[in-house]
Amino acid sequence: MNTENINRHVQAVAIQFISYRGPINSMSNYVAGSMGDAAPDIELLTNYLRKPETHEELLLRWDIGIWRNTAGDWSLVSLAAPSSIEQMKYRLEHFPTSNTQCRWCLQDAKRLAHIELIPEKDIHGNPVDNSWLHKHCMRPWLTMRNQVARAQTHPTKESLI
Ligand SMILES: [Zn+2]
Repeated sequence: MNTENINRHVQAVAIQFISYRGPINSMSNYVAGSMGDAAPDIELLTNYLRKPETHEELLLRWDIGIWRNTAGDWSLVSLAAPSSIEQMKYRLEHFPTSNTQCRWCLQDAKRLAHIELIPEKDIHGNPVDNSWLHKHCMRPWLTMRNQVARAQTHPTKESLI
């Protein structure tokens, strides 16, 4: 099984959906659809996505978050940061409609929010109001926050125009 090719297509699906939540079989079907004739058997694909090693590998190398929710369904989230500081700022300034939603992927954990989401902390270690995220989503969120903070303390010539 060419896992490199699978990872590439999982990434394509994650980017297309931005944030997907549902049964893992449906996730495999989308990946298989993206792969076309190169797709392995759906069951093999599902087993591959289910493996913890896969999550770690995907997470680290491909900016993809995959995890199983407490309710038993699965999430697939693109952890790629927006391409411009302006887009990052926009995301940092806007809050989801419900405070049980993750600020990065916007998936709603509803009554399980206290289990599935963790509070964002400011640089002093204090929780930020109404800002809760999945463990996997916290990393790109904080990277984005740092990048915007750095851009504001060290403005480049372009951003002053
Ligand atoms: Zn999330």
